[in-house]
Amino acid sequence: MARYTGASCRLCRREGQKLFLKGERCYGNKCAVVRRAYAPGQHGAQRKKLSEYGVQLREKQKAKRFYGILESQFRKYFDIAVRKKGVTGEVLLQILESRLDNVVYRMGFASTRAEARQLVRHGHFEVNGRRVNIPSYLVKVNDTISVKEKSKKLERFKEILDVTGAKIVPNWLEVDQENLTGKVAALPAREDIDLQVQEHLIVELYSK
Ligand code: SF4
Repeated sequence: MARYTGASCRLCRREGQKLFLKGERCYGNKCAVVRRAYAPGQHGAQRKKLSEYGVQLREKQKAKRFYGILESQFRKYFDIAVRKKGVTGEVLLQILESRLDNVVYRMGFASTRAEARQLVRHGHFEVNGRRVNIPSYLVKVNDTISVKEKSKKLERFKEILDVTGAKIVPNWLEVDQENLTGKVAALPAREDIDLQVQEHLIVELYSK
């Protein structure tokens, strides 16, 4: 599957906000958004007035980058959100949050979404006792997500928990860190999602 392989911090600087793509580093003084709070590139420090389209585009790019998703997949999620009941922008965010790689990250079993994606792809996780190695798998309420029995002994998970152990798990998820398992207690409401994005602008962009 295609994926972005460039410098992560450039993406945050382009969007002008932290997207938390690098784990622990994002919380310290070395964060590029803190050190260089302007867009990357030769003219990045110049202030530009964005058009209406530009503002909408930036909101969409921000959400895509936050979840590490490319355009075609993101567009598919939007099409699903349109067909579902509810406020389209909020439904879109709910779908993005329901991806298995995101849930693994939110539960603290990976320090970034990129790491979560890799761990899922390598077959370290089970959903309801069955191995799932598809990062885009969408979890449902009452699904149990756990690290595979054999993988629980891996040093890597100990190292990850050392970093993520103190992380606040959103209240739509229940986590048993000791046993490396968790449960989806509910689907997230908008206020449970910490992404600072104006999702209605994404809807406007795609609805043109
Ligand atoms: Fe973004 Fe993290 Fe890099 Fe800061 S350290 S710019 S939050 S990826």
